[in-house]
Amino acid sequence: MHHFHYKESELYCEDVPIALLAQEIGTPAYIYSHATLETHFRTFDNAFKGIPHIVCFSMKSNSNLAIVRIFSRQGGGADIVSGGELYRALKAGVDPARIVYSGVGKTAEDIEYALASGILMFNAESSQEIATLNQVAGRMKKKASIAIRVNPDIDPHTHPYISTGLKENKFGIDIRKAVEQYKLAAELRHLDVCGISCHIGSQLTTVSPFVEALGKLKQLIATLRKSGISIRYLDLGGGLGITYDKEKPPHPQEYAGAVREELNMEDLTLILEPGRVIVGNAGILLTRVVYTKSSGEKEFIVVDAAMNDLIRPSLYGSFHAVQPVRTTGKEKIKADIVGPICESGDFLAKEREVQVLEAGDLAAIMSAGAYGFSMSSNYNSRPRAAEVMVSGSDYHVIRARETYEDLIRGEKIPDFLKKA
Ligand SMILES: *Cc1c(COP(=O)(O)O)cnc(C)c1O
Repeated sequence: MHHFHYKESELYCEDVPIALLAQEIGTPAYIYSHATLETHFRTFDNAFKGIPHIVCFSMKSNSNLAIVRIFSRQGGGADIVSGGELYRALKAGVDPARIVYSGVGKTAEDIEYALASGILMFNAESSQEIATLNQVAGRMKKKASIAIRVNPDIDPHTHPYISTGLKENKFGIDIRKAVEQYKLAAELRHLDVCGISCHIGSQLTTVSPFVEALGKLKQLIATLRKSGISIRYLDLGGGLGITYDKEKPPHPQEYAGAVREELNMEDLTLILEPGRVIVGNAGILLTRVVYTKSSGEKEFIVVDAAMNDLIRPSLYGSFHAVQPVRTTGKEKIKADIVGPICESGDFLAKEREVQVLEAGDLAAIMSAGAYGFSMSSNYNSRPRAAEVMVSGSDYHVIRARETYEDLIRGEKIPDFLKKA
C-alpha cells in the first residue's frame, strides 16, 4: 500500500500533484510519502505485538535524517553498518540503546565511536573482529555487548548480489563453527556475549527461508545454553521483499506470524532489521524527458535522471515501474528509458511498454525509496538530486539539490600546479 495515485489523469503523492513538485523543486528529485513511511513502520512493528522486539530500521536502505526521524519517533531503533550511519542515526534522534551494528569491516575507530555512544550490540562477523571488540572495550574500560552473526547457509532465492546467508558469501561465521567461536568469545573479559544474529538476503518473497534460518538459530541457542552461554537477543536481520513488478511477497503480518510460530521462546528479545519493506514503495524518482530518439530498431527515451541517481537497474538488472505523471491516453510504445551518463549501462528501464512520452513530459520511476538515493553518486559530476517529503497537502525539501560548489567541496589544486 502506498500513497502515489492518479486523480483523473494526474499523478499525486498524497494530496500534492507531482507536476507541481517538478515545477517548484525541479528534476530529478526523490519524492517520499510521509503517510506511507509512517504506516509501513507501524504495520511492521504492530505485526510483532506481544513478543518482546525491537524494529531496527536498516539505515543503508535510506538514511535521510527526516526519514529515519519518522521511525525513531515511533520507538524504532537502527541497524547500522558504518560510523557515518551511526552519526546519522544519532542526529535523527534514534535511542543508542536501540542501535545494532552489522558489517564485516568495522575498524577499531568505528568500534570506539559506537562503544562511546552506548549502542545496544555489535553483530560480530569474524574471530578477528571479536578480538578487536574485546581490545577496544578493554582500553575504554567498558564491556561490549555482542552477538555473533552466523551464516546459516540458506538459499534465499534472490539476486546473487543480495544473497548474504550462503556459505560462499562473505558475511557471518559458518554456523558449524559458531559454538567454538561463542566459547572463545565468552572467555574474553571485556565482552558480554548476549546475542545471535543472521541476515540471509534481501528482497525475499517467501517466508520459508526465514523460518529455516530461525530454526537453525534456535538449535544453536539451545546448544549454547547447555554450555552456559545465555543468549538474550535473537536478531533475524531484514530482507522482506516488496512488489516492484508482479512479485507477491508476504505481508509483514504473515511474516511475523510465521516467525512467531517458529520462535516460540519467550525469554528472547527479537530484533528485526527491515529496510526495503518500510521505505521501498514509499518513494519515487521523478524525472523529466529531455529527448526522444529512434534508431530505427529501437526507441529511446532520454530522461534527466540516471544511474548515478538510481543504480539498481544497472547494478542488479532490477525492475522499476515507469509511470507517466500525466496520462494522455496516447498509444504505448516499447522503449529503453535511459539517462545522460556516458555508459551503456545507464538505463532505468529496458524494452519497456510505456505511454508515448515527449520531450518535457514527466515520468515517475516507482518503488525507488530503498537503495535509491542512499546508493547515489556524483558520477559524471552530476549534483545529487533533491529529496522531498510530502505530508498531506504540504511538502518539505528534506535534502537540497546539490550545487556545482558541492561537487568540488574539499578538492584543492596544490600550489605547485597553480603556476602556469
Ligand atoms: C541490508 C541489510 C538489511 C536490510 O535489508 P532489507 O532487504 O532492505 O530489509 C538488514 N540487515 C543487514 C545486516 C543488512 O546488511
